[in-house]
Order: sequence, then C-alpha cells, then structure tokens
Amino acid sequence: MRNTGGTRALFVGAALVATILFAAAPSLAQWRTPWSYKEGPNGPEHWGDIDPDYAACKTGTTQSPIDITHRTKAVLPPLQFAFRSGPVRIVNNGYTAVRVDYEPGNLNTLTIGARRYELTQFHFHHPSEEELDGKRFDMNAHIMLKGDDGKIIGVSVFLKAGRGNAAVAKLWAHMPTVKGPPHDAPGLTVDPGDLLPSSLGYDLYTGSISAPPCNADVVWYVLKTPVEVSRAQIDAFAKLYPHDVRPLQPLNGRVVQESEND
Ligand SMILES: [Zn+2]
Repeated sequence: MRNTGGTRALFVGAALVATILFAAAPSLAQWRTPWSYKEGPNGPEHWGDIDPDYAACKTGTTQSPIDITHRTKAVLPPLQFAFRSGPVRIVNNGYTAVRVDYEPGNLNTLTIGARRYELTQFHFHHPSEEELDGKRFDMNAHIMLKGDDGKIIGVSVFLKAGRGNAAVAKLWAHMPTVKGPPHDAPGLTVDPGDLLPSSLGYDLYTGSISAPPCNADVVWYVLKTPVEVSRAQIDAFAKLYPHDVRPLQPLNGRVVQESEND
C-alpha cells in the first residue's frame, strides 16, 4: 500500500511539474485554447471566456490596440536601436503569415534611457492594429523586446504602400503559405533595422499583448513615421491573412505621451 501510494504521489508530482512547465512555456509560442480574429465563438469578444489564462482579454483595463488621438507632449528618451543582419527563423503560426523568432543572446538591442531590451520576435498585421488619429495604415509590424528584468515592450511600425522594403522582400520570399512550426530559412539573413523609419519620434502608452493571453503592462512605442512597403508586398500578405487585427480597446483614462524629439 505504501509503495502504491508513493508511486501515485510520484506520478501526481511529475504531472504537476509537467503542468507547471507547460504553463510556463512562452505564451506567444503556443496557445492551449485556439482563438480567432474572426467573429464567432472564439472571436475577440469571447477571448476572455474561452480559457481562464485569457481572462485579462476581458477584465483588463489597459488593453491594446488603441486609436492614438489625444497626446501629451513630453521629453522622452530617444530610442537607440542596435539591430544587425543575421539568420532568422520564420513561422506562420495561424495568426500571422510571418513571425520571426529570435533566441536569447541574439544581440539585437534597443536602449531607452538606462534600460536595455533584447529582440524576441517581430510579426505583421494587416491592416494596422493601432490607429493614428482614427486612421488605419495598410499594415504594421510589431517588434517585441524583453528587458533584463523580464519586462516586455513593443515597438509598433506603421507600413504604408509605396516603395518596396528590403527586409519584407526577403521575408516574403520565404513566407510560409500554410500554418506550421517555426523553420530556419537557409541562406536568408535579415536586418530588422530595415523595418525602422529614419525618424524615430514616437507615441508612448501602456497596454497589453494584443492577442491572448492579453498580458498587461506592455509598454508600447508607436513610431509616428510610417515605413513604405510595396502594394504587391501588402497584397501578398493580405491574400493569406486579410484581417489579423484585434478590435480597438478603450483607453480607460490612459494618457498617451508624445516624444518631442524626432
Ligand atoms: Zn502584434
């Protein structure tokens, strides 16, 4: 009896550890409960109900994306990007056609004041998730970074039709047409800095991850200057993902700060 009990205790313990490890897996890498951008039982209105881990999607009061209209001018630190060309891993995860994942120690960093953040991934939305004065852009890129303290920040770059973009051209050439696991793109090197405009003035607000589990306390730096991509590049993405966008979320009294510098 004692042995059986011990075995059971061991089994339960192992299951518990497995559960904790699974729960601690990177939230953006996989989702226990499927969700959708489309209206319906798994649509944005129901994200907070379909999995207890997604509760913040419903109860959170500082959610993303938002329409950036009223701003308060402020002296804010400049964004000092140190991005470099390197090999990339690409995934079509069923929610965006292109997400590019980076391992820790990849040396692509953003310094803001005394704080340094490292690139974790970037991905694309069609059309843009954020709005600027009620205007939606053709697309946007969300560049996600993590600080030494584990704090997540996002840099949102609006993309509009114009000249083709070098990084987008390379990535689109390897764009997976169907959902699948992350894969290396042999021979492909991409500089995420090619997704940045020359002018780095920004609007700053505190929001969330804009997809389940909708973690709050993500500080967003929304760059004011859009980057051009070609109409063909926009259309190629939209053919696979016509609308991978969460509806706008209420401000709930949040103040958007606007950097005075460029
Ligand atoms: Zn995003």
